[in-house]
Amino acid sequence: MAFERRGAYFEIQFSLRLVTKPTSGRNSNRPVQVFRLIYLDFYVLRKSVNFEDCQMLTSYALQTMVDALPIAACVFTGPEHIITAVNQQMLAIWAKDVTVIQQTLYNAIPEIREQGFSELLTTVFSTGEEYRNPLGSALLIENGQEVLKHFDFSFKPLRDDDGTIYGVVNTAIDTSERVVAEKSLKAVNNELIALNEEQAAVNEELTSTIEQLVQTETAMQKLYDDLAASEGLLNQFIQQAPAGIAIYTGPKLIIHSINQAAQSLLPKREFLGRSVFDALPEIVGTPVAGNLLHAYQTGEVYQQSDVLIPVARVEGGELEERYFNLSYIPHRNAEGTITGLFSFTIETTEQVKARREVIDLNDRISIAVDAGNFGYTEVQLATGQMRCNAAFKRAYGRTPDQELTYPDMFAAMLPEYREEVRAKAMKARDENLLYRAEYPVRWPDGSVHWISAYGRARYDSKGNADRMVGLIKDITAEKQSEEMIINLNKSLREQEERLRLAVASANLGTWFMDVQTMAITFSDRLKQIFGYYLQDEIDFATAVNQIAESHREQVALAINAAITEGKSYDIEYPLVGYRDQQLRWVRATGKTFTSSNSDNASYFLGTIADITERKQDEQRKMDFIGIVSHELRSPLTSLNGYMQMLALKAKKTEDNMVLDIAAKAKRQVDKMSSMITGFLDVARMGETQIKLNNKAFDMADLVKAAEEESLATVTSHHVIYHPVEVTPVVADQDKIEQVLINFINNAVKYSPQGSTINVACITLDGWAHVSVADEGMGIPAKDLPHIFNRFYRVESESMKSVKGFGIGLYLCKEIIERHGGIIGVESLPEKGSTFWFRLPISN
Ligand code: ADP
Repeated sequence: MAFERRGAYFEIQFSLRLVTKPTSGRNSNRPVQVFRLIYLDFYVLRKSVNFEDCQMLTSYALQTMVDALPIAACVFTGPEHIITAVNQQMLAIWAKDVTVIQQTLYNAIPEIREQGFSELLTTVFSTGEEYRNPLGSALLIENGQEVLKHFDFSFKPLRDDDGTIYGVVNTAIDTSERVVAEKSLKAVNNELIALNEEQAAVNEELTSTIEQLVQTETAMQKLYDDLAASEGLLNQFIQQAPAGIAIYTGPKLIIHSINQAAQSLLPKREFLGRSVFDALPEIVGTPVAGNLLHAYQTGEVYQQSDVLIPVARVEGGELEERYFNLSYIPHRNAEGTITGLFSFTIETTEQVKARREVIDLNDRISIAVDAGNFGYTEVQLATGQMRCNAAFKRAYGRTPDQELTYPDMFAAMLPEYREEVRAKAMKARDENLLYRAEYPVRWPDGSVHWISAYGRARYDSKGNADRMVGLIKDITAEKQSEEMIINLNKSLREQEERLRLAVASANLGTWFMDVQTMAITFSDRLKQIFGYYLQDEIDFATAVNQIAESHREQVALAINAAITEGKSYDIEYPLVGYRDQQLRWVRATGKTFTSSNSDNASYFLGTIADITERKQDEQRKMDFIGIVSHELRSPLTSLNGYMQMLALKAKKTEDNMVLDIAAKAKRQVDKMSSMITGFLDVARMGETQIKLNNKAFDMADLVKAAEEESLATVTSHHVIYHPVEVTPVVADQDKIEQVLINFINNAVKYSPQGSTINVACITLDGWAHVSVADEGMGIPAKDLPHIFNRFYRVESESMKSVKGFGIGLYLCKEIIERHGGIIGVESLPEKGSTFWFRLPISN
């Protein structure tokens, strides 16, 4: 810019540079433009006037120039810094008026005296060096108040053409507002920076969020795809699931969908689209309905096994009891409100029934096991743990509360059986078979008992044996009886053999009758004895008729009693041969046996021995005795008469010696006479019975008579007669006396001289019991049963010196039994014998 004023030419150049610095954040949405004023430059380029000419001009020109300036300006001239020109802007800054012209700075503006401006002016004036302070400030008085004002000011030297400094130009731009603006701008700027930073951070976050969003979107897409796929799968799964699945919706539980498995539980029923309570009216009012509603209302999952629901195959049809495993799982919408139920149903009717049957069966088995007193055990093969019942423990000699382990069980087994039993069990396990074993076990008390065991393995679902179950029974008693039977059989066989030998050697005929069927078999030997040919069949009735009439009835009765009452018999009888008509004597024995087998059948076994020869022998003896006795009787009667005559004569002559001899001879004759009577009795016995002359008498008198008799005859032994009380009997006194005398005589005969013989008669249970006890040789046990038989005599060395016929005791037995009494003997060889008889006491 150039201007002319009164011939002076000034060329002033302003230079105003507006520097703009656009600042843009990363956020293009909010671009921020910051404009900043950098600086203002101005200087006088040329002065083409001389000092004197221009003195006035100067102040005028200066004033004009200063006025023209768009900024505050003033000119100080001279070393005193006289205000030569000042424009309005500067006066406004100073808050002064034009009166300040021609005054010194300090005079014009006293308040800045101490603020260094004067010193600055002086420096510029003297040095010619320009001073500039864009951030200047001064305390000024405006309207009577101190005000801090800011300005960008400069002091520039004013030179004349010679270059001499004559003044200083002061320009200033009030920056108070700017500073304030700048301050606020700065604050704004700071805020902006902070904002920017924040924005940047936000931007950063946003970027990463966007990146994440992109990623999420991809993932979402994938999820969505997966979801679609899995939804398809789920549908497929639901449809094909082996469990019945239904989806109920809404409070009425409408069956929204139902899979095949659920439908097939009741194929003829309509479900889809109906409320479950309409579709299944059977459940209304039952706990099933309650549980459904409860699950829907509370959102609680319901699960229950083996629920009994009586349902009909067709709606309204007959109800069937069926069992189901049920679960209801509530489903919810996005807000979490329950919208319905998933229901899962599996029918378990078959399983429940099967389980019941198993329980039932187990009950029945355990009842059977207990009732049969069976021991039961179950062993876990992996652990060897054993469970067993009380009967099992009992079979091993343990009480129910005592422990019994698997090893204990084997330890109890007798060692020689252990391996065999173990091998059997293992074989059964490997081949899925039942094993059976019998073995003895030793109880804790040492006793041995037998056990019969059955066992079988149980297998897990893979077919591996995991348990062994066993049933056992104590068979000790059975074993013992089995053993007994074996032994019995053995001894029976031996006996049978012996019997057969005996039968064969004794030439016995045998006959056998099955009592049930009455079938009779006869041995060949029996046929011979009964006079049949071997090929002949024997008829029982015919055979009975062959028996001599005198014995027939007796024999028939005996056989009958043997068969019906089990009595045994032993009879001798004569019979006539069937073919040969020969008379034979037989000895027949018979007895009925009951078999020990389960049938309890009875068998009669009879034996027949041909005793004809013996009988003939006896008969010959009898005949002889009969003849001899008879023949002896007449001379003995004569002898007796002579004796009486002799005694009579001696009495007359008072020949005492003869009298005594005659008396003794008479006694011997009497003795002989009674002996002969006995012989005759025996001889007659076969045909007729002994005649009894019964009368009432006192046994004490009888014993007394015997005492007197023996006192006269027995001198070799001490015969002691024990006192006898009154014992009335009715009997043939002579014959009873004969018995007693016979006992006493035998005692004398068969016991050593000087030994004692005790004779007693006591009352015993209504019997008169008479006994004669000696201290003699006694009788061997084997001879005792036969001692009262006719002609029976003990055969021994010591017996050889003692003579006898063996008929005395036979007669005694006949006499006592004919009286209804009993005869008997107790004897020990070398100790002595006691012969006794009993007669009923009469009142
Ligand atoms: P006898 O004496 O004539 O032989 P008995 O009939 O009186 O005939 O006796 C039969 C057998 O009984 C005798 O042979 C004898 O072996 C035995 N006996 C009888 N009484 C006694 C007795 N008191 N002590 C030992 N043996 C006796």
